Parts: sequence; C-alpha cells; structure tokens
Amino acid sequence: MERHNLVIIGSGPAGYTAAIYAARANLKPVLFEGFLSGPAGGQLMSTTEVENFPGFPEGILGSQLMENFRAQAKRFGTIVLTEDVESVDLTKRPFFIKTSQTQMLANAIIIATGASAKRLDVEGTRDGEFWQKGVTACAVCDGAAPIFRNKPLFVIGGGDTAVEEAIFLTKYASRVFLVHRRGELKASKIMVERAMKHPKIEILWNRTLEKVTGDQVVRKIVLKDVKSGQLEEREAGGVFFAIGHQPLTAFLQGQIKLNPSGYIATKKGTTLTSKAGVFAAGDVQDWVYRQAVSAAGSGCMAALDAERWLSKQGYSE
Ligand code: NDP
Repeated sequence: MERHNLVIIGSGPAGYTAAIYAARANLKPVLFEGFLSGPAGGQLMSTTEVENFPGFPEGILGSQLMENFRAQAKRFGTIVLTEDVESVDLTKRPFFIKTSQTQMLANAIIIATGASAKRLDVEGTRDGEFWQKGVTACAVCDGAAPIFRNKPLFVIGGGDTAVEEAIFLTKYASRVFLVHRRGELKASKIMVERAMKHPKIEILWNRTLEKVTGDQVVRKIVLKDVKSGQLEEREAGGVFFAIGHQPLTAFLQGQIKLNPSGYIATKKGTTLTSKAGVFAAGDVQDWVYRQAVSAAGSGCMAALDAERWLSKQGYSE
C-alpha cells in the first residue's frame, strides 16, 4: 500500500493553502478534493462574486478563485485525487485512509473538510428555484450583491450568526427582518441588545418561513405565525438562512475530539487536534470567523504545524 508523508482531506481555501505550503516544503502532499460529497473547492463554489478576498480589488468569481487555489497547489507538486474519503483509521500510525477507489497510509493528516450551511427545505428555496437567486446562506458572501440593495431582507434564525448577518445586511437593505421560530433569541445578550436597538432591524417572533415566490429573483415570502397558525405574505428582496452550520466530520467516526457543537477541537492558537499527527484547518474547526481568508490562513498554519511535527518524528521528505 502506498505510504505518503502528508494527506490533506478537503479542497476549500484551507485544504489548498495547506497543500501549497506543504508542497513547497517538499512534503509531496496528496489532497483528496472530494467527488460526490459536494463541489471540489468547497463553499465558495456556490457563491458568485467574492469581493472580500484580499488581492482582488475588482472581486473574483468564487469558482475562479478556487480554480486558482487548485492550480497553485498543483504547480508545486500536490497530487490531487478526485475522490471522497470514506473512512480513516487514526488508532495507529501510519494512519490509514480509505476512499471508494484508494487505500493509502499517511504519516500525517490535515483535515480541511469544512462545514456546510444548513438550509431549510421550504418551497421556493431549493436548487433550481430561488436558491442563489435571492435565497442564500451567507450574508457576508452575498449580501452586497445588487439584487439586495434597498430591498426588505429576511434573515431566518435566532442565533449569533442570524443577528450578525442581520446587522451586516442593514448596510444594503431598506429594512431587515429577523424571523425566529421562538419568542426569545438564542444569540448572546450583547448581540440581542444590538439587534433590538437597531433602527433598521425588526424581529418577527414566533414565525416560520413557509414559501418563497418571485420571477427571476425573490419577490415575496410567506411566513406563518406558529402561535395562531396565520399565514402572512410580505414583499421580500432576499432570504438569508442563518440556522447554523454542519461541520463535515462524519468520516472520522468519533476518532478525534469534537467540541460540543460538533467542530473539531484544536489546541488554542494552533491546528493541533486531540490526535498527534492529525491537524485541522478551516471551517471544520472554526465556528466563529468562517471566512475564506481565515480558512486559508489556518491552512497555512496546519501545513507549518504538520511540517514541524513530521520533522520531529524524523520524516523529512
Ligand atoms: P446556532 O446553532 O447558535 O443558532 C441557530 C439558530 O437557528 C437558532 O436560533 C435556532 O433556533 C435556529 N434554527 C435552527 N434550526 C432551525 C429550523 N429548522 N428552523 C428555524 N430556525 C432554526 O448557530 P449560529 O450559526 O448562530 O452559531 C453557531 C456558533 O457560532 C454559536 O456558538 C455562536 O455563538 C457562534 N458564533 C459566534 C459569533 C461571534 O462570536 N461573533 C458569530 C456567529 C456565531 P432555536 O433558537 O429555536 O434553537
């Protein structure tokens, strides 16, 4: 069975950046970019223009940015395999990795499988309906798009992300409505205060999203008052899901310590996980920042952490 120095699992900004650094350090990394598990390139593949990634003053398409990341990783010798990792055995070293087509051993592993934003399965919000035509799951990524300017925007959720996104959207919206299924926000006290005080934010308590309609883009939504059962139609320019993220860790089958929200626990200020030789970068271990640039930064950290660890173990190249 092939044995590699470093295997990177995941192909978002974190995985590719780890690969660029590891390849340049002659670690000859193998990167599994995924196949059926979602688009290689991660969450940026489902956004349009990325305007907040430094170095692109005119903005860049998410898919183009990820193609650039990939090309840069390959340029320095990363072996990119278009396969899904099905399972790993981290109980002994070298670690064992199994995909649908390959089995291999690795001296060290970087996990950068990311997280996916949760979506509601509501009429009008699905792929092929208004998903990415006014319905999205990332205000910071998509909120500045022209279709949302001066329109009433609806954020679904009641946690810190929902409040943060609602506040962010006030820069563009005519008004922002925070739609929450209960009568109390889950968000931290300070965030709740900010939302309540904000002149452009209105909280719609005890409401659920029932339907989204429109033509080329979103025009209206239907909300349900969960207490009275009454339905209400409102003009809408956009719907932003902020109901949490799901870190993609199922293939680990409990072999790495996760925090209570299910993200991989890392030693503060590093990418070290509970298992020596296994490192984690990007959204799979970050529930706070969740940005392409912070994911890329942690990918760089993971490659440096892995390189140092490998050299301490006596595996140089
Ligand atoms: P959370 O899980 O904290 O909140 C999710 C929200 O979505 C809850 O209000 C929940 O409702 C609601 N929700 C979940 N499922 C549904 C559903 N099916 N229909 C309607 N509503 C639903 O996720 P967040 O992304 O907000 O936060 C994740 C973590 O990240 C938290 O620990 C948070 O504190 C942290 N965070 C920190 C930030 C910061 O420090 N600046 C910024 C953003 C996040 P309910 O309340 O009824 O359960």
